[in-house]
Amino acid sequence: MQQMFDARCSAQMYAIQGRYFPFPDLTGVLCPHCQSDLLRKHGFYARYLILLHFAGTILIRRYICKECGHTVSLLPSFAHPGRAYGIEPIICVLTIFYADEKCVSETCASSVCSRQLLRWFRLRLKQNLNLLLMELIAVCSLRAPPAGEVGAKKRAGQFFECIRSLNAEDISLKIFERTRKSYLSPLSD
Ligand SMILES: [Zn+2]
Repeated sequence: MQQMFDARCSAQMYAIQGRYFPFPDLTGVLCPHCQSDLLRKHGFYARYLILLHFAGTILIRRYICKECGHTVSLLPSFAHPGRAYGIEPIICVLTIFYADEKCVSETCASSVCSRQLLRWFRLRLKQNLNLLLMELIAVCSLRAPPAGEVGAKKRAGQFFECIRSLNAEDISLKIFERTRKSYLSPLSD
């Protein structure tokens, strides 16, 4: 299981501190899987992370329950579960495409994204869009838009326009706490 937390620093600072980063301490917390034993520290694993101005390996703090053997990993909020690309480049690329309404060539030219990657981001976003919109409305206490025949691309544009004025990492963290998903999480996760 993964949990996200607000690292309150840049990925560079997080990476430099390595195992000495002040991770949230889950020692003694009841196991979220079996709830019959307490979590204890279980080392780290290395994970590759790509942001707009950072690419490198970061350490992820891991806890284990000796009773059921399940682990809990602590993912910093700038990372995206299951992806090497972090929240920042994913939001940047999709904002250019959906909110700025740039075409594929312009989006790829102005970002770190390949056409293939953009296609994959769009596909995954399309699957999650309704959930993301509902969650955004819930976590930000927004008024739901009037129901109507608005296409998926337009709705995605509205979503990223709204995210632009907010903190994308913070929204990701809140949505993850409620749903165990982030922007591009597979629905079957
Ligand atoms: Zn357990």
